[in-house]
Amino acid sequence: MASVLDYRTAVEVLKEYKRSGLDVNQLLDPERNGGLTYNDFLILPGYIGFPASDVALDTRITKRISINLPLISSPMDTVTETDMAIYMALLGGLGCIHHNCTAEDQAKMVRKVKRYENGFILEPVVMSPQHIVRDVRAVKAKQGFAGIPITKDGKMSSKLIGIVTMRDIQFLKDDTIPLSEVMTTDLITAPEGISLSDANAILASCKKGKLPIVDDKGNLTALLSRSDLMKNLHYPLASKLPQSKQLIVSAAIGTRADDRERLKLLVEAGLDIVVLDSSQGNSIYQIDMIKWIKKEFPQLDVIAGNVVTREQAANLIAAGADGLRIGMGSGSACITQEVMAVGRPQAAAVRSVSQFAARFGVPCIADGGVQNVGHIVKGLALGASSVMMGGLLAGTTESPGEFFVSREGELVKAYRGMGSIDAMESQKTGGNAATGRYFSEGDRLLVAQGVSGSVKSSGSLTKFIPYLQAGLQHSLQDIGVTTLAGLHESVNNGTVRFQIRTVSAQAEGNVHGLHEFTKKLFK
Ligand code: NAD
Ligand code: ATP
Ligand code: IMP
Repeated sequence: MASVLDYRTAVEVLKEYKRSGLDVNQLLDPERNGGLTYNDFLILPGYIGFPASDVALDTRITKRISINLPLISSPMDTVTETDMAIYMALLGGLGCIHHNCTAEDQAKMVRKVKRYENGFILEPVVMSPQHIVRDVRAVKAKQGFAGIPITKDGKMSSKLIGIVTMRDIQFLKDDTIPLSEVMTTDLITAPEGISLSDANAILASCKKGKLPIVDDKGNLTALLSRSDLMKNLHYPLASKLPQSKQLIVSAAIGTRADDRERLKLLVEAGLDIVVLDSSQGNSIYQIDMIKWIKKEFPQLDVIAGNVVTREQAANLIAAGADGLRIGMGSGSACITQEVMAVGRPQAAAVRSVSQFAARFGVPCIADGGVQNVGHIVKGLALGASSVMMGGLLAGTTESPGEFFVSREGELVKAYRGMGSIDAMESQKTGGNAATGRYFSEGDRLLVAQGVSGSVKSSGSLTKFIPYLQAGLQHSLQDIGVTTLAGLHESVNNGTVRFQIRTVSAQAEGNVHGLHEFTKKLFK
């Protein structure tokens, strides 16, 4: 029979043994184990003294900016455009908008994200009484809303005289009627300077969809929308800067001269974080670019990369990078290692760079090669502050493009590497000679670093991200830590232990021996 005394004895006896498994330095010692990646090892379980719901996943993305979930979507044209960036941010993560498009189109996407869930809309679309019903319908078709304040001269800071919403024009047959004849003039407004919570309270009680904010002369200064109020209630983890109601957004650019012009447009549109997008970030181009950005836009955070060694990282940190992106050749649509013979196994890269960058307070993103929750946990355990995903998110409803049925009869969406021939060609023919990335040295042969294909549908991000979040919480509970900072600390001080997986251990760790099965990941 077991007794409390036996238990104490067991704990006492345990002290005679070496700790189970390896510490992180032993695990990733290249002389002992070569270059490891995520599937090559496991994390040993710790002690559970708390429920999984107690695990907090907030993390730093750059030196200055933190978010609630360590998840970022890749800057790829089959992964992150407006919808992906909005929903990643609403759910607590971050979207990084791709740059395989004109600067104007990219800026438009950034602007849409910034305007999405804005408490006070400071630059609402405004019209004059002389505008006609067709003008409102056009805004509704293009921008998705139809609540338009009407001011005397159709501009902000001019006298508010009415409001038009969809309900005012819905059943009108004549699109040429002036708004003066259909607008509501009996208005509920709130005074400039009112707090957001007081304004929200008025909106909630008056049962109107819009609350115009006016100064003491009755001039329009802002607009509040009930649908924003509702969204606030549903997304408690939404990524926002302190004191701001706007979602955080990042976007990628290159390092050529016209990328500087591109960045100016993105900053005007409200960009929070710029990602310098390259497979090999340790270049004179990127160092010059970081220095220029730091001088030109000191308020903008810069994530540089990609890097896989301390030496690469040191140059970018010294140039002023606020964050680093780690990964070369680990992406699911990537053939860089095969073609260039350059790169590094992702686990080795993440540990090596993030441990070094931590000494300078620079957070790191583990980018590429994430196929499941376990890979996310491993990237974070090795020192990354967040992970970036392409393929895993490309099959969601919020990624760009339409679903189609594959030859095998499965619902899929296109996914392609940004260095694939398709993506490079689209840059050439798709109206984006803007970056001229691949064509600088005369129109020579295109050398692919990626492939194009498709990924299976994985439903809406609004289900998929909470699944990743819950999976992470349960994993950290198994490890015995309640925060990501705690995970980093426990790995660094040797409390969290690891074990190498042999090839047969990897087979054992997957479903095996079943005649057939279905793999449903969450419900
Ligand atoms: P890149 O723009 O960094 O490089 C393309 C070429 O242009 C390189 O030869 C580079 O040296 C050169 N170049 C860059 N800036 C220059 C400048 N200012 N003046 C002159 N030449 C300059 O792009 P890339 O590395 O080919 O990557 C293309 C895309 O594919 C990116 O989206 C990247 O993220 C992705 N990719 C990623 C990986 C990875 O493993 N993470 C690998 C391959 C491609
Ligand atoms: P309704 O037709 O019921 O009045 P709507 O079509 O105006 O609704 P909302 O749901 O109220 O649309 O708003 C959708 C989004 O557009 C919100 O994020 C809101 O902040 C934004 N929005 C609404 N009106 C304006 C406007 N005049 N200018 C800029 N943004 C607006
Ligand atoms: P995934 O999550 O494994 O699909 O990897 C996504 C990452 O792959 C991106 O964030 C990029 O760093 C990288 N990537 C994007 N396009 C290419 C490419 O064409 N070749 C190699 N890597 C790419």
